[in-house]
Amino acid sequence: MHRLTLGDFELSIFSDGTYPLDGGAFFGVVPKVMWSKRVTADERNYVITGLNSLLIRTGKQTVLVETGMGNKLSDRMIKFYGQPAKLLENLGAAGVAPEDIDIVINSHLHFDHCGWNTVRDKNGKIVPTFPRAKYYAPEGEWQYARQPSERDSISFIAENYDPLVESGQMTLLRGGEEIVPGISVETFRGHTASMQAIIIKGNPGGGTDGKGTASAVPGARDTGALAPEKNIACYISDLMPTSAHIDITWGMGFDLYPLDTIESKKRYYSRALPERWLTVFTHDPKVPWAYIEKDETGKLVAQEAK
Ligand SMILES: [Zn+2]
Repeated sequence: MHRLTLGDFELSIFSDGTYPLDGGAFFGVVPKVMWSKRVTADERNYVITGLNSLLIRTGKQTVLVETGMGNKLSDRMIKFYGQPAKLLENLGAAGVAPEDIDIVINSHLHFDHCGWNTVRDKNGKIVPTFPRAKYYAPEGEWQYARQPSERDSISFIAENYDPLVESGQMTLLRGGEEIVPGISVETFRGHTASMQAIIIKGNPGGGTDGKGTASAVPGARDTGALAPEKNIACYISDLMPTSAHIDITWGMGFDLYPLDTIESKKRYYSRALPERWLTVFTHDPKVPWAYIEKDETGKLVAQEAK
């Protein structure tokens, strides 16, 4: 169980399971001799990919960031990806029922990020999985999803969002909005044009002594200085899908705008490094979150948050 407190917020990771992805596609132009030092591929060159959702309890609301792959894949897609469909089970095991979720946020609308937004009821009708929730997703993603390119049209399943937009249960975001106090979205272009990261700022007054958790911060001891811990976490989604993708140039082959991925990562690090953000990895099957820092040689390293 991955759980920690961020100021007065409680953060937990819930997985929808794992699925196989082609290692070459996952690491883009990075040669296998390099990525295979970080991730092991099977004989077909597939690597195991996670589906991490983030549950935030603010004290007032229960917020679910991303809803995994869901259970509505076509037979053809199940051949490629399987269909683990573990999210509701894993939430339930922790005592979280679908009715408990107040807010759902999708970073973008590819099928592996919003799959549990909806389910088919016993009559085959598409209904919201989280009946009480207000849903949020980037408007640019939704516009694009209506007429995707041939390259990524396979990644969209309209049943995951169109019924929610039509019923008014999903609000479309421009980027920059604060959804509830402390939880906001920001556009990071690269993987897609309008993908949004979810930035979470726990009130430092709660959960800690108000000075952050500096004593528990790895590396802080070395300098004797208080790390500038600001109780900020970021669900950076497919801009950095795993802890093996933290290097500026290690983008995915799936990225529609690879040069923008590099610029967006630089923009992310310009704040995340000095302010010591907790980075949440959407597709890492082992390390769902970490503090990214530079080692003595200047290389970016991910220190898993425990
Ligand atoms: Zn993804």
